[in-house]
Amino acid sequence: MIPGAEEYGIDLALDDARVERLLSVTPADVSAADELSFCRNVFVPLTTACRYTCTYCTYYDPPGEASLMAPEAIRETCRIGADAGCTEALFTFGDDPDDRYDAIHGQLAEWGHDSIHAYLREACEIALEEGLLPHSNPGDQTREQMATVADVNASMGVMLETTADVRAHGGPRGKSPGQRLHTIRTAGELGIPFTTGILVGIGEDWRDRAVSLAAIRELHERYGHVQEVIVQPVAENERWKGETPDLAALRRTVAMARAALPDEVSVQSPPNLAPVRDLLDCGIDDLGGVSPVTDDYINPDYAWPGLHELEAVAEAAGVPLRERLPVYERFVDGPGDDERWLSPRVRRELDADTAAGERYRAVFGD
Ligand code: SF4
Repeated sequence: MIPGAEEYGIDLALDDARVERLLSVTPADVSAADELSFCRNVFVPLTTACRYTCTYCTYYDPPGEASLMAPEAIRETCRIGADAGCTEALFTFGDDPDDRYDAIHGQLAEWGHDSIHAYLREACEIALEEGLLPHSNPGDQTREQMATVADVNASMGVMLETTADVRAHGGPRGKSPGQRLHTIRTAGELGIPFTTGILVGIGEDWRDRAVSLAAIRELHERYGHVQEVIVQPVAENERWKGETPDLAALRRTVAMARAALPDEVSVQSPPNLAPVRDLLDCGIDDLGGVSPVTDDYINPDYAWPGLHELEAVAEAAGVPLRERLPVYERFVDGPGDDERWLSPRVRRELDADTAAGERYRAVFGD
């Protein structure tokens, strides 16, 4: 039983035979992609407050030290990103700031908001005004929280990380795999194109990886909303001195992800954290969001590669490199039901941009 599954009403009927098959997958069982994609984004670290304390994470700050970006700073960051040709405003968070973060809650109240989600809505509006498509990662969300911001996001995401109960999530404020699955399921119910993924090397075993991928697949089969699955190795940093996965483990995990997921779901590895050249034959087809203007605030020790480096990766693989939007094309120009996926607000921005012959449509290459 997945920890937290009962509490959050997660009713997955995981197929044992599928999990067993995944456990036997090797890189030789999958094919390389025939193209690689990436998205140009700007990182907007809305707040570093987080109610959890994952032991591998350098993103969160404790109460009294956590930051909250002001509206003017959000606008300035988005403007710089748009000027640099980005299409995505990537809003990063911890998870809901709890009662300990009274300074954050006081600041939100001063700005007229009673929750971080209410403020996120304003932040997404700013990004849209500046010509960027929001993609928010606010951690676990209730249905009500997600509905508060769904129509101002082109897509959203949360890392499942693992279905296992691992010590890296432990302590008095550990996050729950059941709650993460609940968040992914809620996105499906609300028709939100969604990004999720697994974090490799935080104490899970091979079966946990297979179960995690099978769980994502099952939720995607129900709702069709998962656009990409990230396979991310845990990275050494000032808080994580544990092991990091070796290349063989990473290759096998990426191949397992490719085999677990239907073709329409991309498998992504972040090029600043993983040796992507050595993973191409294991089935990755996306290099994720890459920012020409901001750091990776989640992994500040690991710089983004430049565009020319991504081009070199694609060239080495002998495949084209294609820029994409933060919402995958099939949700935008899908067969007849794209209204299910894009809110009128986001659709309006895309259409206005298209009419002007501007950036979003240029990314599609039409
Ligand atoms: S990984 Fe996410 S949930 Fe865990 S401490 Fe960091 S910001 Fe919070």
